[in-house]
Amino acid sequence: MSINHIRPWRHIERRKSRQIHVGNVPVGGDAPIAVQTMTNTPTTDVAATVAQVLAAAEAGADIVRVSVPDEASSRALKEIVRESPVPIVADIHFHYKRGIEAAEAGAACLRINPGNIGDEKRVAEVIRAAKDHNCSIRIGVNAGSLEKHLLDKYGEPCPEAMVESGLDHIRILQDHDFHEFKISVKASDVFMSAAAYQQLAEATDAPIHLGITEAGGFVSGTIKSAIGLGQLLWMGIGDTLRVSLSADPVEEVKVGFEILKSLGLRHRGVNIISCPSCARQGFDVIKTVEALEKRLEHVKTPMSLSIIGCVVNGPGEALMTDVGFTGGGAGSGMVYLAGKASHKMSNAQMVDHIVEEVEKKAAQLDAEAAAAE
Ligand code: SF4
Repeated sequence: MSINHIRPWRHIERRKSRQIHVGNVPVGGDAPIAVQTMTNTPTTDVAATVAQVLAAAEAGADIVRVSVPDEASSRALKEIVRESPVPIVADIHFHYKRGIEAAEAGAACLRINPGNIGDEKRVAEVIRAAKDHNCSIRIGVNAGSLEKHLLDKYGEPCPEAMVESGLDHIRILQDHDFHEFKISVKASDVFMSAAAYQQLAEATDAPIHLGITEAGGFVSGTIKSAIGLGQLLWMGIGDTLRVSLSADPVEEVKVGFEILKSLGLRHRGVNIISCPSCARQGFDVIKTVEALEKRLEHVKTPMSLSIIGCVVNGPGEALMTDVGFTGGGAGSGMVYLAGKASHKMSNAQMVDHIVEEVEKKAAQLDAEAAAAE
């Protein structure tokens, strides 16, 4: 029996989309919502770009996008693809030839922008290259670079213009008997993005790539993305996502996972539940949580840990977590295992001890999962 059956208010009914593949990663249908990021090194600096791809993959990225602005980048892409543990999407703007070169270089997917890729003849050549090299395509509509005839028709960028641009390009792909595509309609404005995605979700069964473009720095971009993507995901819309931040790609991956974890759509690593702390705390909650976040980064098994300053909320939260610690008096607190009070532990040794307990629990959960396969 799933937890959603017990707690129906947690249930999210995902929109039914067609499934495609980006390399070996399924996108759409009942596949998990894939988390993406994008490198920000010069693509021609192969070593630096591969290092970013590896770091993003280690943080959990399922797919990584790399910009291909010139011919030298197309050549570098070939080496990057070879070194990457995850499928690489080539980001193409303006030059349709880069799309062809990227397909030849082994990109798993080509992101093309309908607003600047050129006429249908050029798109047809990119489609042929994608077919020949087993690439999928993302139609990446962006409010900031819509086609001129749509801006003339609608007067300014708006959800209707973005969706029309996307649907026009879907038709071009379908006319060429190409169906391995997904689509995004991004804007930096949360309202415009959300409206465009809702209209798009009604108009097509193609898998949808979610994103708020140019969302901003770490804090503001995270909040904008959590609101915009969060409400769409809550409505069941979205098969893959990228959180755009003016920050390290690893941060984008972490924020993407946190959004999905908050909605119970994906689980990875330790979900720490902690109180904000106040004068009642029996130990330094903030410092402890900071230390535990760092020390538990390597744990990929989905599980929960509650770190609560005192008995006001500690035992209650511990009931619903795999491992818990609640502050008490005289420099020690209570350790909870599987929701039950287990033993006392001194505040001084608590971080090391909790790390041990979490690792033990993760090993047990992994063994159970392996036995169930
Ligand atoms: S759980 Fe206790 S320490 Fe934490 S915020 Fe609430 S009252 Fe304060």
